Amino acid sequence: QNAIEIRGLQKTYAAGRGAPAKQALKGVDLEIPAGSVFGLLGPNGAGKSTLINILAGLVVKTAGQVTIWGFDQDVNPRQSRASIGVMPQELNLDPFFTPRAALEVQAGLYGVPKSQRRSDEILRLVGLEDKAEAYARTLSGGMRRRLLLAKALVHQPHVLVLDEPTAGVDIELRQMLWENVRRLNQQGMTVILTTHYLEEAEEMCDEIAIINFGEVVARDSTANLLGRL
Ligand code: ADP
Ligand code: ADP
Repeated sequence: QNAIEIRGLQKTYAAGRGAPAKQALKGVDLEIPAGSVFGLLGPNGAGKSTLINILAGLVVKTAGQVTIWGFDQDVNPRQSRASIGVMPQELNLDPFFTPRAALEVQAGLYGVPKSQRRSDEILRLVGLEDKAEAYARTLSGGMRRRLLLAKALVHQPHVLVLDEPTAGVDIELRQMLWENVRRLNQQGMTVILTTHYLEEAEEMCDEIAIINFGEVVARDSTANLLGRL
C-alpha cells in the first residue's frame, strides 16, 4: 500500500523577469509506502521543494501523475488535498492572527466540522498552549514553526510533509519536532521530510530518495543507502 505514487512528474517554471525557463523536475517516478518516514535528500536547487509543493497542491505540475492516498490529484483533487498536510519552509503567517484563530481558519478551509476541531489538543501537542492568544507577529521563529506544524495537522491528514523542518532551529525545537514525528508515525501517519542533514535522515527515516538536478538518482532503505556512501 503506497501513500504516494508519482509517475513521470515534470515541472518547468516559465521564464520571467529576465530568468530563462527552468526544468525543475525531469520525470520523477517515486512510490512512498504508507506508514513510513520517508526522507527526500539533495542539494539546494535539486527540486525538493518543487516536488513537495506539487504534492501540497501549491504548484501546478507540467506533466505526470500524482496519487495521494489512492486519490489521483487530477481526478479527485479534493480528496487528494484532504489526505495531505504540509509544514512549509517559509514562515509565512498572518501577523494579526493568534495561533488559535489560525487553526480555526485552517479548519474552516478544510471543512472540518466544529464538533471535530481539536485546536487545544493540537496546540498542546506542539507546545503552543501558552501562546494560543498571542498575535503571530509577536511569536519567535521557533513558535512560528510550531504553529505551522499545528496548521498542517488540523484536518488529520494521512500524510504529513515537512519541508526542511529543522533548518536553523535550536535543539529544543528540533527535539520537539522529532518527538512529534515519531509519535505521529507510531499512530499511523506517513511522514515525508526534506533535510540537508544526513545524520537526521539517518536517525529519522526508514527510506530515502536522493534528488539531484530534478531527478531521483537513488532510492533505498536508509541503512542500505547510507551504508553505500
Ligand atoms: P553542502 O555541500 O554545503 O552541504 P549541498 O547543497 O551540496 O551543500 O548538499 C547539501 C546536503 O545534501 C549534503 O551535505 C548531502 O548530505 C546531501 N545530499 C543529498 N543528495 C546529494 C547528492 N546527490 N549530492 C550531494 N549531496 C547530496
Ligand atoms: P530545492 O528545494 O531542492 O532546493 P527547488 O524545488 O526549490 O529545489 O528548486 C528547483 C529549481 O527550480 C531551482 O533551479 C530553482 O531555482 C527553480 N525554481 C524554484 N522555484 C521557482 C520559481 N517559482 N520560478 C522559477 N524557478 C524556480
